[in-house]
Amino acid sequence: MKQKSIMLVTVDCLRADHVGFMGYERPTTPFLDSLANESFMVPAAIVAGAPTYYSFPAILASRYPLALGRDVLGLGPDEPTLASVLKQAGYSTASFGAANPYISARFGYEHGFDMFRDFLEDEPAPLPEEEASTTNGSGWGIRLNRRLQKIRPSMGRLGTVYDELYFEYCQRATPVADSLDTLRRFPAADVIVDHACTWLASIGDAPFFLWLHLMDPHSPYYPKEAALKFMGQHPVTPYRARYLNSYWNRSDLGPQRFARHRAEVVALYDAGIRWVDGQMSRLVETLRGSSRWDDCIFAITADHGEEFLDHGGRYHPPSRLMEELIHVPLLLRVPGSAKKEVAKSPFSMVHLAPTLLDAAQLSAPAAFEGRSHWGALRQGASFDGVAISECVAGCTNPFRSENRMGPRVLSVREARYKLVLDFDPQAENLYDLDVDPGELSPLAPAAQKPVRRRLLEIAREHLRRSREQRDPRTRLQARLSELQLEWKKPADQASPVAH
Ligand SMILES: [Zn+2]
Repeated sequence: MKQKSIMLVTVDCLRADHVGFMGYERPTTPFLDSLANESFMVPAAIVAGAPTYYSFPAILASRYPLALGRDVLGLGPDEPTLASVLKQAGYSTASFGAANPYISARFGYEHGFDMFRDFLEDEPAPLPEEEASTTNGSGWGIRLNRRLQKIRPSMGRLGTVYDELYFEYCQRATPVADSLDTLRRFPAADVIVDHACTWLASIGDAPFFLWLHLMDPHSPYYPKEAALKFMGQHPVTPYRARYLNSYWNRSDLGPQRFARHRAEVVALYDAGIRWVDGQMSRLVETLRGSSRWDDCIFAITADHGEEFLDHGGRYHPPSRLMEELIHVPLLLRVPGSAKKEVAKSPFSMVHLAPTLLDAAQLSAPAAFEGRSHWGALRQGASFDGVAISECVAGCTNPFRSENRMGPRVLSVREARYKLVLDFDPQAENLYDLDVDPGELSPLAPAAQKPVRRRLLEIAREHLRRSREQRDPRTRLQARLSELQLEWKKPADQASPVAH
């Protein structure tokens, strides 16, 4: 039998509950929904960290994000990854990523790829919208926010009316482009898929590993206009889309004021997902046309979700590891294996790489933390899933090493219970997801003591292993390779673009 190829698609910011095959009512994913009929649909795929930089070490290297220490970000140059293992097995390997700087060569992600395009031709520059969500930005949007913040208290109840009007006035005074295309910050999925198809046509019959990372649902939310139309939505003018994005990024408002625009912002985000779906259809069609689909394992998932005021927040800063951030879709299609129902237990993304290798009948390196779940998936058997997620609170600009050293946040999630440990201010919250899926009311400290003890023990064991198994050589190499890159460019060019 022919060696199976593997295609992995990661979609930035894609929440589990915004895809049709997970029950979303809006038609964001008609193609993927049809593909779900022949795929394993994992109901509780949980990322090992959020955002991007705390998620990908698990996806590509089957390793927890803080395992090498909080100051190390990205992958070590000698660390085995899905790409390096497959390259060694004789695969042609390529990656096309839509300009997310945190999974670029700077952070070791090019390792193992024959072809690596991250579309970061220019040095990363700060995005004014994202900058506004931090306190040290300097764009016009931030100056405006500060001005409004100062004026509002002196105006009492009129303050709200005044600042809405003033905000709109400032928006109108700034020229806007004539199309959403010119406002978009990242290459859209069609550009990435075009490159993927060209590469696929160039490699002949060799088994391949192709990793695509798509940014369409990532903020700022400027979807393709056609995607809004496909979902039966009214067109959105560039002015309105820019107004919504600027408003959504204000740093001076509380959740109540954002709530009035939530539906419109979510519609833009959903259209980004719809565009990804259409491009996946095109990509699969191309593979079918060349008969490569018959021996291609296809996995589509996300690096983390997105907050839409679920707990008062927006975007996806590293924070409390709530479900809207850590629960992602995961669809796995393996030719020759009939679809089976997948257990509802959490499936940590640390298990994805060994599972994919196993499905291609290849063994995983010993350094991988996760273990293959392919046997359980193929047989429709249950597995006892516990998913651990971790991040560093407040690290919104990981280009600066000192920004990475904040307190750790750790969550331990079972099928029913979830414990979130915040090391500053030493808080622990236990949720019963069966009765409180929105994580709105943590259980009282005296409730469910055995459960709390069990999950705390898992957390303690994770921290102990993380410390004891830390490989000093990999840690040093990862740090050195990043520092060498830092020396090559002026520090002020290293700026946050996305997270
Ligand atoms: Zn991301």
